[in-house]
Amino acid sequence: MGINNSLYNRSEFLEKVQELLNNYALSDWCIVSIDIERFKLFNNWYGQETGDQLLENISQYLLRIQQMKGYLAGHFGGDHFFMCIPDDDRLINLIYKTIRSYIALHSQNEGFLPVIGICSISDQHPDVATMCTNAQLAASEIKGNFNKRICYFTNEIMDQLEKEQQMLHDVKIGLENREFTFYLQPKCNSITGAIVSMEALSRWISPIRGFVSPGEFIPFLESKGMITALDTYVWDSVCQTLAYWKEEHLYVVPISINVSVTDLETINVPEFLQDLIHKYHLTPDMLLIEITETAFSENNILVRETIDQLHQYGFCILMDDFGSGYSSLNMLKDANIDILKLDMKFIEMNPDNRQKGIQIIDSIVNMAHRLKLPIIAEGVETSEQIEMLHSMNCIYMQGYFFYKPMPIADAEDLLTTVPHEKYEVMHKDTPTETTVSSAELLHETTVTHSIFKILAENSLVLARLNLNNGEYEILKRDYRLHGKGLELEHDFETYNQRILNEGLIHPEDKELYRTRITLDALRNIFFNGSKQLRYQFRRRLNTDYIVTVTEFLAGNKCDAQNPWIVVVIHETTS
Ligand code: C2E
Ligand code: MG
Ligand code: MG
Repeated sequence: MGINNSLYNRSEFLEKVQELLNNYALSDWCIVSIDIERFKLFNNWYGQETGDQLLENISQYLLRIQQMKGYLAGHFGGDHFFMCIPDDDRLINLIYKTIRSYIALHSQNEGFLPVIGICSISDQHPDVATMCTNAQLAASEIKGNFNKRICYFTNEIMDQLEKEQQMLHDVKIGLENREFTFYLQPKCNSITGAIVSMEALSRWISPIRGFVSPGEFIPFLESKGMITALDTYVWDSVCQTLAYWKEEHLYVVPISINVSVTDLETINVPEFLQDLIHKYHLTPDMLLIEITETAFSENNILVRETIDQLHQYGFCILMDDFGSGYSSLNMLKDANIDILKLDMKFIEMNPDNRQKGIQIIDSIVNMAHRLKLPIIAEGVETSEQIEMLHSMNCIYMQGYFFYKPMPIADAEDLLTTVPHEKYEVMHKDTPTETTVSSAELLHETTVTHSIFKILAENSLVLARLNLNNGEYEILKRDYRLHGKGLELEHDFETYNQRILNEGLIHPEDKELYRTRITLDALRNIFFNGSKQLRYQFRRRLNTDYIVTVTEFLAGNKCDAQNPWIVVVIHETTS
């Protein structure tokens, strides 16, 4: 092997491995794929130059191995490196550790780690390019898994990929053969027992797979970008059913449909639905649109624009699954939705945390009443839940306690026997004060995170901080704040470094931030008896800097044994 100053590129590497294979059996060798997980983020945080420097370190290291040992190494671009080496645990671990130490030269963050996928070269091996792909597929199996960083390509991985491929194929055929249908689940006025609407939930009755539940195919289709084909099909079928009810003078209640955020990104949903309404001679009030709460945090601007357009066309929008994700009451104020679906599933009603569950629901229901938003509680299963919801003046419910989702014909039968009515907004007598003070929040330190994030309705950030080790847990972060992925950052110092690096603090406040907001400084203050600390910083919100207050709050005791404090950032009213 001649001396080379840089690693082989893709085609050279494939060629060199092939040459080696032509001359030797290599049956105990392997193809290794090496990536740095979240390398794009690394570049964002530490700058392109540092990123390039790291890649150069790795290239030089792999080149040295190649030159000294006669193994092969290639750089396919970006952070994608490949090697052809003996299949030896110790060697692979050494490579892993060395690359890890190169990363550590530039970053203390534990989140940036190499990820290694391996494809053993068997007697019946496929071509070199396929082996590289297989090694990479093995690596993608363990991305995000901090405990496992090296993974072999196996038959199971192959089977899994083949299964997914088969599933995609079956869905396509299933759609063509009209194997998909929907069930209807009534939503009721729990006082009168009347049905106010029904929700269409897709079902796949496959001649090969049998009855497949949406939990299996919806997330799959969403991840493969195929959900819209199914959804548009379901929406069309729903409108067909509504048209049939209307023509036959059956009882008609509005039907709600589920819309994925992918649908909003793929087609113009408002136009599509309006066309359906015209096609089937319906009116927009017969169709209700459910958009999940997570969609709001995923693509807030698009969701808002869509809602505005849907409103213009006369549709009514429900926020689905509220309470299950990173819900905040701020989100409710801004979202411009018409009805809130409160998910009861997120509250485990066991004796230990029953009280907390009730507080969460109470604060949501209260807020919704203040905003004059009708609420439907979904996932209602017990009479105890119903009693509790009644005590909070929440009367619309959907759940197994009333009806499970049922085939269309059963729903039609039901509509002939059970009365139906329209939603009516019910209000509780409400206090005018809608904000929650920090003192109240402090009182809640011992309460669950969930209550916490919901109570902090006027806060921009709510988090817990461990003063011993800097562990930082963000319970809530306003979506208008800049800094993509910051809510996933669990290290306080790294978090602050990003805040500063990405210009999220006003340039004139940066110095104060840099010196005061450190673990050491906070430890000094709180471990010496302080209970509260406030700083004012100008932070980026949307396109401007606004004045915010950052508060650190400790419980009664704060020391190395009780190191957790609460961090709240809110807008000032001044
Ligand atoms: P979702 O829209 O929140 O629908 C409620 C889910 O909870 C349904 O599950 C329903 O069967 C279930 N459920 C209803 N009452 C109860 C209860 O009392 N207890 C419990 N444990 N569960 C209850 P399903 O039908 O399996 O659907 C799951 C999710 O899949 C739906 O959640 C929705 O997000 C999605 N989905 C269903 N059909 C479609 C569709 O056509 N298009 C899209 N994009 N998503 C759909
Ligand atoms: Mg729904
Ligand atoms: Mg739901």
